[in-house]
Parts: sequence; structure tokens; C-alpha cells
Amino acid sequence: MNDRTLPLHGAPNPSSLQEGTSPGSFALRPQIGGALTFSSPDTPGMPPPSEKTAWDFMPADWKQVEGRWIAPEGFEAITQLEHARLGRITPEMRRIAEREPHLDAAAVRDEVAAGRLIIPANRVHLGYQLDPTCIGRAGRTKVNANMGASPISSGTDAEIEKLRWAERWGADTVMDLSTGGDLDACRDAIIRASRVPIGTVPIYSMILDRKIEELSPEIILAELESQARQGVDYFTIHAGVLRDHIPLAAKRLIGIVSRGGSLLAKWMIHHGLENPMYTLFDEICAVMRRYDVSFSLGDGLRPGGLADATDEAQLAELRTLAELTERAWRNGCQVMVEGPGHVPFDQIEYNMKLQRSLCHGAPFYVLGPIVTDVFPGYDHITSSIGATAAAYHGAAMLCYVTPKEHVGLPKKEDVKQGCVAYKIAAHAADVALGIPGTRDWDDSLTKARAALNWERHFELAFDGDTARALHDEDLDVDTDFCAMCGHDWCSVRISKEILELSSGKAEGFARGSVKRSEPLTPTQQQILEARGNLSTEEVHRLASKTRFAVGAHETKGICHSDARGADDAQRIQEQHLVQISTDPLPKSKAESRPLEG
Ligand code: SF4
Repeated sequence: MNDRTLPLHGAPNPSSLQEGTSPGSFALRPQIGGALTFSSPDTPGMPPPSEKTAWDFMPADWKQVEGRWIAPEGFEAITQLEHARLGRITPEMRRIAEREPHLDAAAVRDEVAAGRLIIPANRVHLGYQLDPTCIGRAGRTKVNANMGASPISSGTDAEIEKLRWAERWGADTVMDLSTGGDLDACRDAIIRASRVPIGTVPIYSMILDRKIEELSPEIILAELESQARQGVDYFTIHAGVLRDHIPLAAKRLIGIVSRGGSLLAKWMIHHGLENPMYTLFDEICAVMRRYDVSFSLGDGLRPGGLADATDEAQLAELRTLAELTERAWRNGCQVMVEGPGHVPFDQIEYNMKLQRSLCHGAPFYVLGPIVTDVFPGYDHITSSIGATAAAYHGAAMLCYVTPKEHVGLPKKEDVKQGCVAYKIAAHAADVALGIPGTRDWDDSLTKARAALNWERHFELAFDGDTARALHDEDLDVDTDFCAMCGHDWCSVRISKEILELSSGKAEGFARGSVKRSEPLTPTQQQILEARGNLSTEEVHRLASKTRFAVGAHETKGICHSDARGADDAQRIQEQHLVQISTDPLPKSKAESRPLEG
């Protein structure tokens, strides 16, 4: 092989139609049912996958007979893991197979049994509106959106609104991290209203109206029972922070940044005792098993800055989380493990593969990670860069970060920005991993773009409202070019005209006639107003369009090269297509701008 040959031995083309000129994914060939299911090739020196799975950590009273595991007499399977161990396919597993067409129900069951996939579906929540989803590297990468009232901001109605908004923008799960207001009522309303799994960090409610030092085993178990009965689908339990780990965090630049981790460290120092979440772990498992609440084993010692990443405190806790994963499996509970945080880009693969190795492939749920600390206000971007790498190297769920990270409580628009940034990260990783069918959406949009079919382009866009508002801000008529290059320089238009090329000619994407460009919707007007480049008057005048200026109200605009020759189209562009000024104008002048045509 010469050094210019592409490594064609990677995963197949991630488009189900196998279209395009790409040789496919350079990730490893998928091995559904093995440790390398959808995996990046290991950089030399990375920890290898574990040879063990959840099958190696069975309850002590189960017996293996002729290769099959038999539960003790009178045993009643409750959790998805227990059903899978008994070879049963549950309705939830069937639903996952519908939502992830590259998996069949038996494969879902087998991945659950191996502990590499969880279905966070509390039996109580299944009685409301929950649509089950899976978290594991055999499925598509999932995105979690955090929300929750704080003591100084928001309330139940606002949180329900945020839930709807997070679902609208593609969140696969939602964590209610409320620390203020009526927590019980707010949580209950969220669970009843949500179609996605809901996670919580129960220690927040445990210390409501009391000091952390007053936390007791009775309070812990009662709160867990109460939230499990309400229908919470997964709990973040910070059981991995041990007394011995606390001194390891002493040299950090920013100490312990997890709320749960710092509170429990304070409790341990005050009482001189081990973390109660750790000492009570088997009792906690018993509560969670009764309702099939999944564990999200919290990373209380996650790094809070690049300088603290992958340090001894973080790794010591990860080793404890691996031990707790095994214990949870022995107790019949589903488990995922939480991860960092703030990690330099070069350390991300190691972090993902170390967790894969220590925790035997249990799903990894990471927060970002943020790859640089100096862009507060833009941490949805700094972290989505890290999140893309994390998912490609093994993370199964990405906890979104919003622009408000580190500086305030996210509002509705911040929730949208965080969700969009993370849907980009998750989808980019899924395409790169070669998950079958994931690139079909990209290919459809490429065909619409090649055909200069703007309406289809915006229909297919994840956020078509924003895409169309931005298009129309410059050139608000339907033409076979856009304002970026203009008619003469539009390479897409030129490619479409070259007979030898298939560009722009895909069946179902070419347009018989140019559709009249619709006025901006109120949402699109709001998007442009929020950008602040156009005056309010201009945005509202833009909503009525310039199509009369180019005759696009009756047929194809005269600026369209299908309607005129190239020379004419160029002349018309110069004479008729007035690009909207982005300089705010005084109101009196704005009235005389030639927008209406
Ligand atoms: S004008 Fe430029 S940016 Fe716009 S569609 Fe054509 S090639 Fe693409």
C-alpha cells in the first residue's frame, strides 16, 4: 500500500444508500455484540477494552446451568437488565429497536444483558408518557439537557416550558437539577409531562432546609424511595468520592467543582466517616431496583479546569466507580458512569478508553468536556468540540453545556443553543463512527443544496427557521444562487448546469418551477430582530418580501437563470436585487428603502 491509499478497511459508508464518493468511515468495523461496537481505532498506548461484561457480575444466588443463567425460585424480574439476563425481550427493547433501526430487539436485549446499554425507564414513568430510549455505544449518541429552578430564579411553569423546549430541540433525556422552589411538585409535574427519561441528583433534595452535616442514612434512603416512587428514571449518586480521595484534590487549581462531590466531602470531613452513599450502596441498589431506576454513577471529583484534568483524584474516583458498577450489576441494576468535565483535547481519547476498560463497557455519560477555559459565554461551543471527540472515542451520552455555563442559570434561548450545539456533536460522531443510516439526513440536505432547492433545504435543516431567516436577511427571493457569491460566482449553479455532473439532478430534489418565496414567519422575524443587525422596521418590511421587484410573485423571478440567460440574469441582479443593508437606519429613512418593490 502506498502512502496515498485510503484505509478502506474501516466501517462501511454510514449512508444506507451507500451514496457519494467517500470511501466510508475510518472508524473500526462495527461489532454489535462486542466491546468494540462502533468504536474509533485506538491510538497506540490506549487502555484496551475489558474482557469482562455484566455477565461476569451476576447476583450470588443465580446459577448457571448448561450455559444459561437461572434465577432463584420465586424471583421476579423487574429491571431491564434482569429481563435481559433471563433472555426476555421487553416492550421497551422492541421500542428501542424501532427507534434505532440498525439494531434488532434481540441485539438490544443482548447489549442490555452485557451492561453496555441501558434503558432508563422507571416503571412508574412508563405509566405516563415516557417513550423509551437507550444509552450505550451500540445506539446513536444521546444528548441530555439540564434544567431546574434555583433558589433565585425560575419556577414549575417555567421548568415545564424549558422541558418542552428541550424536547423540541432534540434532548434525549432531561435532568431536573432544581435546588429551589417546591422541588417535589416541580419534579412531579416534569415527570408527568415528559416523553423523555428524567434524571435527578437526589442529594439536592436531601439537604433542602437542612445542613449537609445533618444528612443521615434514613434521610438518604427515604428521599431515594420518594423520588423513585415519583417516576425518576435515573439518579446521579456520588458514591465514588471516598475519604482517601479528598487529599488528592488539595493541589488542584479549583478543588471539587461537583455540587454533590463537594457536599459529600464536607460531610466526610465533618463526621470523620466514609461517604454514606458508598457505605449504603447495596441498600440504595435495592431501592432503585424496585422501580428500575438506573444509576448514573456521579463523578464528584471531575476536573473543573484543564489543569486538573486526568489527575490522581479523578482517576482514583473512576476506579471506585468501576467497583460500584460491578456491585450495581450484582444487584440487578442498570448502570451508566459519569465523566469529566474540563479536559484538554489530547486527553479525551485516553479518558474515554480508560473508562471503557475499567468499567467493562458500561455506558459513559460525559459533561462536555470543555476543551479550553477562556471562553465563558461560549462554553456550548468549547464543550461541543470536546463532546464530539468524546462520543467518537466511546461516550454514549453527552450532557449539554449552554452559553450560561459558569455564569448563570440557563434561560429558554440558552437551552436551545446548548441542545443545538450538542445535537451537532452527537450527529457528527455518529456519522464518523459509521452507524448505519446516520448520514442519510446529510445526503438528503446535500441533494437539496445541490439542486438549489431552498424550501427543501430549510425543511431538512435541523433549525430551518434560523437557516431561512439568515438566507432572507441578505436576499429574500427564491433564486438559483444566494448572496454569498451571487449569480455569476455560484459554483453550485454552475455545477448543476454541467451536463457531465450529477450535481443538482437527484430525483425528487429538482424543482419543476421556482416556488414563490414566502414571507418571513413571526419566528423568523424574531430571529433577525434578536441578531440586532437590522432595525426592527427593516425586519418587518423584509417579512413582506421583495418578490415584486423581480417578478417572483407570478412565476420564476426574472433573476433566475432558468428564466433569463446568464447575461440578463447578471444585469437584473445588479439592477433589481437590493441586498438589505445591515446598518440600522433612522426611522424616517427606513420608510423610503426600496424593499417592497
Ligand atoms: S452563491 Fe455561493 S454560497 Fe450561495 S449557493 Fe451558490 S455557491 Fe453556495
